[in-house]
Amino acid sequence: MTRSDELFEQAKQTIPGGVNSPVRAFSSVGGAPRFIEKADGAYIFDADGNKYIDYVGSWGPMILGHNHPKIRQAVLNAVENGLSFGAPTELEVAMAEKVIEMVPSMEQVRMVSSGTEATMSAIRLARGFTNRDKILKFEGCYHGHADCLLVKAGSGALTLGQPSSPGIPEDFAKHTLTATYNDLESVKALFEQYPDAISCIILEPVAGNMNCIPPVDGFLQGLRAICDEYGALMIIDEVMTGFRVSKSGAQGHYGVTPDLTTLGKVIGGGMPVGAFGGRKDVMQFIAPTGPVYQAGTLSGNPIAMSAGLAQMEALCEDGVYEQLAAKTQYIAEGLKASANKHGIPMAINYVGGMFGFFFTDAEKVTSFEQVTQCDAAMFPEFYHGMLDEGVYLAPSAFEAGFLSLAHGEAELEATLAAADRVFAKMAKG
Ligand code: PLP
Repeated sequence: MTRSDELFEQAKQTIPGGVNSPVRAFSSVGGAPRFIEKADGAYIFDADGNKYIDYVGSWGPMILGHNHPKIRQAVLNAVENGLSFGAPTELEVAMAEKVIEMVPSMEQVRMVSSGTEATMSAIRLARGFTNRDKILKFEGCYHGHADCLLVKAGSGALTLGQPSSPGIPEDFAKHTLTATYNDLESVKALFEQYPDAISCIILEPVAGNMNCIPPVDGFLQGLRAICDEYGALMIIDEVMTGFRVSKSGAQGHYGVTPDLTTLGKVIGGGMPVGAFGGRKDVMQFIAPTGPVYQAGTLSGNPIAMSAGLAQMEALCEDGVYEQLAAKTQYIAEGLKASANKHGIPMAINYVGGMFGFFFTDAEKVTSFEQVTQCDAAMFPEFYHGMLDEGVYLAPSAFEAGFLSLAHGEAELEATLAAADRVFAKMAKG
């Protein structure tokens, strides 16, 4: 039994499922999760002393690599001054100005402590501002675990707002309409049915919670036009894509301007941070200037702001995103070439610093339905093969992969060499 196995058994006694967030439990790939002791650069190290090249990056935040000296120093400096004040700080002003500089559609911004808080607050604001109850989201998109957003609706119940989890009253879920990602017609149909009732569309501009599905040409622009036509707000959830797809997020990359944006992950540099912001007239609706209530004991925490600011400043250096995109393209194209060489069908998607690979015969994967039709047995086999080779991927076929700037040529080459060996074994059966 490994130390990770022992710790997992011990953890299950006191923590439900042994983990503090479900996808960490390895349920969809089988086996016990690795317990991580430390991380540095492109690597994480487990409790048994194994070293892995990491493509999870704490699910997105660690874009500069783990334990980056600039972030570490910023945190150490901030700690000297105390951990939390519950009063405004200059750091929060600097953070707001930095976010607004990088994402011009955000005229004002409020900091929170997680992506879930950001999306939940943005939805409340959209409802308060428009005085409408319904929201529209897409099947397969994840926006955190607030009641109204944990609704995906199966095909037979597309518009009925079926909750995805017990504990969410049908009465709450019924206000959540679910459309098909990359299908404008499904959105138009819902707006035709409820022309005056939909407060907002919320979407992942590159869907990263059903593997990695970029928007098809015209999808984001089409959503913008529908929102304008019906007086609904467009909320782009950039918790994952913000400062990962480009310096100005997916909205900058694809040239679309939302009314509200939500952020998380990268903005905190590894600390618990989220943010929501957008049009000033909408943001003025938030307390204390406006009637929509939203608050947080630790919001704008000085340690978190220091870590986030250090990361954002490093991301503003020249050439960072070109480098990140080139590394991502290299790994994604390399995986596909290697799989195909061994006769294993694979499709890939990648944008900026995120990527996905699919065990499928399809040329291109652009829909949730296609994702669910991929070979379900191949992913766990590939996953464990790579883990044994010292490569740590997200333990689910429904998650995007993340590159960091610390992934150098050595790590990329080692990853592709490992994949080649694993594909060769899989091909032999
Ligand atoms: N929105 C998106 C697009 C996400 O990917 C996530 C988390 O993965 C969230 C919101 C929720 O963020 P958090 O886990 O910080 O609450």
